Amino acid sequence: MYKVCNCPICYSNRLKSVSEHTVDGKATGWSYLLNDNVVENYKINSCLNCGLVFRNLRFSDADMDILYGSATAPKHRKCRYEDYYDRSTEIVDFLTSNTNLRSFEGFKILDVGGGRGEVTEYFTKLGCRVDILEFDATPMEISEDLRVIGQLTQEDYDLVIFSHILEHITEPVKFLNEILQKVKLNSLVYLEVPYELVSYYVFNTKGHYEHLNYFNSQSLKNMIVSIGGNQICVEKKLGFGQSLPVISGVFYNNKTFQTNHNIEYKSPLRDSLSLDSIVLYVISKIRQITGKVSKSHKQ
Ligand SMILES: [Zn+2]
Repeated sequence: MYKVCNCPICYSNRLKSVSEHTVDGKATGWSYLLNDNVVENYKINSCLNCGLVFRNLRFSDADMDILYGSATAPKHRKCRYEDYYDRSTEIVDFLTSNTNLRSFEGFKILDVGGGRGEVTEYFTKLGCRVDILEFDATPMEISEDLRVIGQLTQEDYDLVIFSHILEHITEPVKFLNEILQKVKLNSLVYLEVPYELVSYYVFNTKGHYEHLNYFNSQSLKNMIVSIGGNQICVEKKLGFGQSLPVISGVFYNNKTFQTNHNIEYKSPLRDSLSLDSIVLYVISKIRQITGKVSKSHKQ
């Protein structure tokens, strides 16, 4: 791991500290990466240019291998795809209500970092071809209707999905841009990330050890702008099987990378204290406590 001094989206160095933390290998999840080591005084910062909140402690390629590589990947049991259908139908509803899409028949979908296709297997039932892009592709027990690929070899995708991926990525703009440059012009792109600002601003938490980037609607919009996306809609909502506040966004890929154009700043602190954020947070916690959450979220 290493520390950065610039925002991973707009590369500004105008940052404000939200909180400061020290972790050791005893903290939940961190033992994978730290063993007996301690990381002192890492910061959760907010960017005063684009509004992204992020951890200044980033993963190296070696850390990414430890976390997500084939050598340490957990051996999955057979996937019960039905448990994830509520998450898939949320994506279908979001896309059909915010675009003129009415049918997915014949669609070619790229599911980036999609694991066993938990979220996209449902789309094969709608007549789609689904490729799952996993850079360190390992043989997995997945539906025979899905195909796992280790690198992009074709560009004819109609829809590219990044579901709960970008919060894990050290350089999210570079990552998105490299993939979208290889996919055809005007393909539809769907992004979904957890909305976690209430945890960081109100409860001062360290956060999930795997999460590096904490978006709100404005910072996700700014990221879409910076990769030249033709934005259709970005929305804060209850998602992930109605159990987690998320930010969902959809845009057309116009493949024009740009830096710092038309970026708009809105205070992430004010956003985290807004009524809709607090309501979403409270509802998600009640659902988790009462067990009224998607089966996929319990696993
Ligand atoms: Zn920024």
